[in-house]
Amino acid sequence: MRTMAAVFYAPRQPIRVEEVNLSDPKSGEVLVRVAATGACHSDYHAVDGHTKAAAVPLVMGHEAAGVVEKVGPNVTAFKAGDNVVFAIRPMCGKCKYCSTNRPNLCNGIKAKPGFMVDGTQRFSKADGTPLFHGLATFSQYTVVPEWTLVKVRDDVPIEKLASIGCAVVTGVGAVVNTAEVKPGSTVAVYGCGGVGLNVIQGAVIAGASRIIAVDIAASKFKFAKMFGATDTVLASETDPVKAIVDMTDGGVDYAFEVIGKPATVRQAFESVCAGGTACMVGVPPTDGEVTIPMRPLFLDRKLIGSSAGTGRPRHDFPWFIELYLQGRLKLDELQTRFRPLTEINEAFQDMLSGTVARTIIKP
Ligand SMILES: [Zn+2]
Ligand SMILES: [Zn+2]
Repeated sequence: MRTMAAVFYAPRQPIRVEEVNLSDPKSGEVLVRVAATGACHSDYHAVDGHTKAAAVPLVMGHEAAGVVEKVGPNVTAFKAGDNVVFAIRPMCGKCKYCSTNRPNLCNGIKAKPGFMVDGTQRFSKADGTPLFHGLATFSQYTVVPEWTLVKVRDDVPIEKLASIGCAVVTGVGAVVNTAEVKPGSTVAVYGCGGVGLNVIQGAVIAGASRIIAVDIAASKFKFAKMFGATDTVLASETDPVKAIVDMTDGGVDYAFEVIGKPATVRQAFESVCAGGTACMVGVPPTDGEVTIPMRPLFLDRKLIGSSAGTGRPRHDFPWFIELYLQGRLKLDELQTRFRPLTEINEAFQDMLSGTVARTIIKP
């Protein structure tokens, strides 16, 4: 079939929206109509050169929800018409991580980046040149292995659920699954983009007492407060470590870094009290390294990483939908703006300007 898709060719160049070919799902694969897909910073990281794209030209996009259009041979868990949310990591169900309920660390899938497991591709350019692709949700339709999909209830509008598979599970999951924030504890959040806002609302769900939002753009604080921040620190004007240590009698119990930079990982570490935990959530640069002082570490402090919110998608996604229906998880507020696929570059500009919680593409 033919479909419109956003193709990334090279860093610091606009993403191009083109009509491309998409072949039928093979064994174990599913064709999904993408209902809504979020403009997430981890795609933009390849555009601005923070991380290196695995292969180009690449059909981008990974945070999405949609409806199953057609299933390939040997697919039994899905049928046409099912509402699905994409999980950003594979879940083979067999490796040592999947077997110990840590599917976010799954290493059982041996596909080369940009290829399906069988070493071929489903997307190609109009002239037949193959295109690299992962979940490839910046497209009207995509073909993915069935183990990346989570079937969800069909009584919630599917486009509302676009961000569950990335921003929500990464942010809320970092709080409840990875760091296991205790009720009554204090929390600082460095970086108030789409994932940072979900760390903030995760801290609310976990029962945190004080939630301090840190950013260099004051425009983000409107959203941070909407999602539950009790205090804000403008890091472009104030030393955030000193401000947090002063506000909390020696530091917060938990600090989350949601930017992916060595300097802010160190600041997060220096913001926690003795016995506290600093958690890196932001995507690190390809060759990033961080240095931390040893004496503070000696006082029972922890520096940990959180990958895809230590999420268990088949458990967590239905739970997030329950929380949303109970009014305890903000999904509507996360969708500040909607754009068509042709405005993918503008969607990333929205994100960089700090004027949106998330821009959602409706392809
Ligand atoms: Zn993402
Ligand atoms: Zn696995």
